[in-house]
Amino acid sequence: MRFQPGVIAPADLRGDCLWLVFQGARLLLNDDVVQGYFPALKNFSWLGMDEVARQYLGVWESLPVFAVSVPESAIPPEGYHFEDLRRILGQVDDELFALAGRAFQILEWERSHRFCGRCGTPTVGHAKGERARICPSCAFSSYPRINPCVIVAVTRGDEILLARAQRFNRPMFSTLAGFIEAGETAEETLLREVQEEVGVVVRNPRYFGSQSWPFPGNLMLGFHADYESGAIVLQEEEIAEAGFYHFSNLPPIPPAGSIAHALIQSFVARCRRT
Ligand SMILES: [Zn+2]
Repeated sequence: MRFQPGVIAPADLRGDCLWLVFQGARLLLNDDVVQGYFPALKNFSWLGMDEVARQYLGVWESLPVFAVSVPESAIPPEGYHFEDLRRILGQVDDELFALAGRAFQILEWERSHRFCGRCGTPTVGHAKGERARICPSCAFSSYPRINPCVIVAVTRGDEILLARAQRFNRPMFSTLAGFIEAGETAEETLLREVQEEVGVVVRNPRYFGSQSWPFPGNLMLGFHADYESGAIVLQEEEIAEAGFYHFSNLPPIPPAGSIAHALIQSFVARCRRT
């Protein structure tokens, strides 16, 4: 493992640290990636920007890692630029993307838990160094929350069910996905979502793998499943277009680095083998 998570920064920081600096959902990158994607410097102040919040994340290949948020007005120093977190997916390696996603989610969690959700009192950090915001009045504690989602590749022989969501602003077709509701299993969500969104009944869900998806704090649980019955009927508020596509003739699909891409590619590889 290249990353070891931690909550409390070492007291004695002498060498360089890795700084994951966010301005909203935009991340500070080196202009020249030969130096690595993210700034590695001893002091954050060398970047010449104010900081709004700071969280220690752990150690990446011997470098202590900090997530820092800066004001909307901050201007990146020479040699750096801000890039939308989504746009670096598939550009940096998966582990670095996951680290950046972790940084973003922890900063967002801290920003949205400054007050107790139960009684409104300003929260404080955890006394023993857990990643939690504690209410000094009622003792309610808030940990970073992950929202589990199911994402499923429904297949029928050599064809895969892909849909273009209304919210996609470009012609991209993906596998269906939806949030797990309170009280549901992942498999129940899968059957419900597919039926709701395209009116099709599926069977035989098989777990594929998972991916942290920091937009804003989801855990995508990937599955394959088989088409069972039904004609496609769109849930029009969500889905603009959907169909079964032959593996040799797919429409534009999500970029490499996403679990949707990995699911679709594993289906294509399976078809090519048979
Ligand atoms: Zn409280």
